[in-house]
Amino acid sequence: MSVVIRECDSYDPESVYRAVESAIGELGGIRNFVKRGERVLLKPNLLSAHEPSRNITTNPEVVRAVARLCKDVGAHVAIGDSPALDSFQRVCVKTGMVGIADELNIDLVEFTHPAVVRDISKNVFKRIELAKQVFEADKIINIPKLKTHSQMLMTLGVKNNFGTVVKQAKAEWHSTAGTSRELFATLLLDIYLSVRPSLTILDGIWGMEGMGPTNGVSKHIGIVAASEHAILLDLAVLTMLNIEWERFPVFRQAKLRNLIDPSIEPSSFKGIIPDKFSKIPFSIPKLDSMNVIPKGLEALTRKYLVSKPLIVKELCERCERCRSICPKGAIKRVRNELTIDYDLCIRCYCCQEVCDRDAIRFKKGIFLKITERLF
Ligand code: SF4
Ligand code: SF4
Repeated sequence: MSVVIRECDSYDPESVYRAVESAIGELGGIRNFVKRGERVLLKPNLLSAHEPSRNITTNPEVVRAVARLCKDVGAHVAIGDSPALDSFQRVCVKTGMVGIADELNIDLVEFTHPAVVRDISKNVFKRIELAKQVFEADKIINIPKLKTHSQMLMTLGVKNNFGTVVKQAKAEWHSTAGTSRELFATLLLDIYLSVRPSLTILDGIWGMEGMGPTNGVSKHIGIVAASEHAILLDLAVLTMLNIEWERFPVFRQAKLRNLIDPSIEPSSFKGIIPDKFSKIPFSIPKLDSMNVIPKGLEALTRKYLVSKPLIVKELCERCERCRSICPKGAIKRVRNELTIDYDLCIRCYCCQEVCDRDAIRFKKGIFLKITERLF
């Protein structure tokens, strides 16, 4: 099984370096993935401008460890991402990436210009545009953060590649997928297969549980994980956290598309998950089971059955981040208050993702209420 999980208790720089080096070592060492003179693009999760202690973004120590290893073999390293709302420069300062770039003399590259994916042989979506730096790099190293996600359950190795979609195009993809989590998971897999990271290194030292990816609760887990296969890495992490694979839309779609060896099951990861991590209590978002809704009933579903975002007026500071990100223009300012037009809303929960004040909560849909009663 080509997934490695290493214990790492804190962000002490040398402890993180040893854990990352050891995990990659078990996969054959960094030279197995990166050669002298190659251009290596590191893709951490730089969702928004927050301090590392909030655990919203990949911790700089994990990025530093990977960068050091790549530099040691003589690669040209850059760190890149495309935050959805905040300025890239501000995100890099807040998240600690500027410090690493200065110290190790590496570039910070904002994804601004898209290029069309050429090899679409394995894709469902036949036209996808990703940051041109993805195609210019010789190698991509994917460095996600372990977090929950209110729409996709978890954001781990596969989903982190969505950051290679340039800025506003992210909202357009949400709009295209509409209420369908399955379609969005299909897109995430297409993007992952197009980016084809050589290696995924997960920052699971501190993660986020509850209603992530921004407003959840920090959770100490104490691991770094590594794999050449982000889908397998994601499944190993789900197993470690006792989350049923079937609840994870990316798994359901990967299984449908035969992207996972059918002989692989949770017990396949038994040997790689250290005993002390096998029963970590971990709170995940409760998702509506929209995948059981018959096709053609989407409009009805959206309006009456699926949990809807609600703006808590007392917490809202009217920054309008939610309004800026909404792919459907469903959030409006009316008499100095933000309101949601539920006829337009597609329940993508991007607004909840970017709200720094945790002012967007959920009103449970009928599906979720029934499911909760049954199970
Ligand atoms: S992002 Fe949050 S705080 Fe800002 S306007 Fe929207 S609900 Fe209010
Ligand atoms: S209101 Fe929120 S959940 Fe609805 S479409 Fe806009 S961003 Fe998505």
